Amino acid sequence: MPHSCAAWKCSNRFTVETRSHGITFHRFPKDKGLRKQWELATRRKGFSASPSSMLCSEHFRPEDFDRTGQSVRIRYGAVPSSSVLHKLRLRHIAELKTAVTEGQKKKLCKAVRFKGF
Ligand SMILES: [Zn+2]
Repeated sequence: MPHSCAAWKCSNRFTVETRSHGITFHRFPKDKGLRKQWELATRRKGFSASPSSMLCSEHFRPEDFDRTGQSVRIRYGAVPSSSVLHKLRLRHIAELKTAVTEGQKKKLCKAVRFKGF
């Protein structure tokens, strides 16, 4: 079974396709306090992360990533950002500006609705 992102309303799955879009998946930290903050950031009521729970990179800010190693890691102490929805909206608006045809615009809006914004 492919892993999915634990965040509420996030439909990202750990597949070759999401990987090709530069989306990475990250396990919850072992540190209890930090883990709690990640659990809260999923915005799912009473959510408790299991050892296999993961969050996708869409919930972090660019400065939260450590890209110096072979694989992309989340810096120790980084907490998923609640401003991510805002970030995604901004990206959506930027994409809409570059969409040329009506068909492309519709497709983009549909993608955003699917994600639950
Ligand atoms: Zn996600």
